[in-house]
Amino acid sequence: MNTFWLSLVPIVWLTVIVALLGIVFDTAIVLGLYGVILLGIVIYHLYTLHCLDQWLRYSDYSYSTVPDRSGLWGVVFARLARFVRRRDKERLGLNISLERLQRATSVLPEGIVILGDKDQIEWCNSSAELHLGLDLGMDVGQHVTRMVRQVRFVAYLDAGDFSKPFLLKQTRFRDMLLSIQIVPYGDSEKLLISRDITRFEKLEIMRRDFVANVSHELRTPLTVIGGFLETLLEENKISGDMEKNALRLMFDQTTRMRRLVEDLLTLSQLENAGNNLTEEKVNIVQLLQGLYQEAQSLSAGRHIISLDLASHAMLFGNQDELRSAFENLISNAVRYTPDNGVISLGWTVENGKGLFYVQDSGIGIEPNHIPRLTERFYRVDRGRSRETGGTGLGLAIVKHVLNRHQASMEVTSQPGEGSTFRIWFPGDRVLYAENIAE
Ligand code: ADP
Repeated sequence: MNTFWLSLVPIVWLTVIVALLGIVFDTAIVLGLYGVILLGIVIYHLYTLHCLDQWLRYSDYSYSTVPDRSGLWGVVFARLARFVRRRDKERLGLNISLERLQRATSVLPEGIVILGDKDQIEWCNSSAELHLGLDLGMDVGQHVTRMVRQVRFVAYLDAGDFSKPFLLKQTRFRDMLLSIQIVPYGDSEKLLISRDITRFEKLEIMRRDFVANVSHELRTPLTVIGGFLETLLEENKISGDMEKNALRLMFDQTTRMRRLVEDLLTLSQLENAGNNLTEEKVNIVQLLQGLYQEAQSLSAGRHIISLDLASHAMLFGNQDELRSAFENLISNAVRYTPDNGVISLGWTVENGKGLFYVQDSGIGIEPNHIPRLTERFYRVDRGRSRETGGTGLGLAIVKHVLNRHQASMEVTSQPGEGSTFRIWFPGDRVLYAENIAE
C-alpha cells in the first residue's frame, strides 16, 4: 500500500471508534479523548521527524544507525536503510578501484602529481616524491612552486603553454634531468607528469661527443689527402686518362667527405648546450650583399638572381651562425633550381618581425616531405643531393641556428614550380637604425 494511505489507516480507525463511542457515551468527552489521541499522533510524528533530522545532522550515515520504527515511519526508514546500504556498497567498490589505481600509479616509473585549481599539490605517487623531493604526508596543500622553486619552472607554469615539456635539472637530490609534462584537465586542475631522462641525456651526450671526435679526427687526414690529390692534379704529372679520371674521382670524393665532416662539426658545435650564443649587432644588409655575390658565382650565370633589401634593420645575433644558415638556404635554391630559373633573396621587417626569405622557381618539394626536411640526412632525392654536392645536413644546421635565435622557418613549395623558405626573427632581435648605438 502507498505510504499516504498507510498513514491514514490509524486515523480512520480512530475516527470510526470515536463515532461508535459517541453514540454510547457523552459526545464532549469522546471528542476530547479524540483530540488528545490526535495530539499524541502529531507529537509522535514530530518526534520521529526530529530523530530523522538528528540522524541526518550527526550520524556517520552508516546503515546500522538508521532509526528503527514501525508503521509508516518504518517503511520510510527501511527505504532509507536500503539506500544507505546500496551507497555503502558503491562506495566500497569505488574505494577498492581507487586503491587499485593508486597502487598501479605508485609503481609507475613516471612521477604523477595532481594539482588543484590553485596549483596546490593534492596527491602524488612515490616516483614523483623521488623526482621532486616531495613528501605526500607533509606537502599536500602546498603550492607546487614551493617544492619546485626554479624561476624558469615558475615562468613556465604561469605562461600556461604546456605544448612542449619542461626540462628540469634537479640538482638538489641526485643529478637528475627531468622532463616535466603538464596536462590540464577538468575545470582548472592539472596533472604533472615527470620522467627521468638522465640516461637518455647521457647517451645523447655520448653520441654527440662521438660524432664530434670522429669528425675532428677525420679532418686532418682528409685535408692532407685532398691537398696531395689537388697538387697531383694541378701539376699534371699523371699521364693516362684512366689514372687522371681516378685521381679526379678521388679528389671529388675527398672534397665531399671534407664537406660532410665540416657540417658534422658545425652541427655538434650548435648542439652543444654549453656553447652559449655570442651575440652582436649583425648588419644583415652587408651580410646578404656578400652572400648574393657568392650565390652569383655558385650559379655561374645559370640563374637569374635578385636581392631585395626592403629594410636596413640590423639583427641581434651571431654573425657566423646566421651566415651559415642563410648560406645553406641560398645554396639549396641554386642547387635545386634548373638552369634559367629565378631566385629571389630578400630582407624586410613585417609586423615588427625580421623576415629573411629565399624564393626559387626550382624543382619544388612534395608536401609530405616538408615536415621532415630539417632531419639530419633527410633528402627528398638522394641522387640529386649527392650530384650537387649536398651533405643532407644543411637544413638541420639551419634549424639549430634558428632555435638558438628563437626564430622560426616557414616552407611553402609546389612540386615543379618552386619553393620559398621564410625565416622569421622575433621583434626583440630587430635593431632599427635609430636604436643602433655605435
Ligand atoms: P642537402 O645537402 O641534401 O641539400 P639539406 O638539409 O640542405 O640537404 O636539404 C634537405 C633536402 O631538402 C634536400 O635533399 C632536398 O631534397 C630538399 N630541399 C632543400 N632545399 C630545397 C629547395 N630549395 N628546393 C627543392 N628541394 C629542396
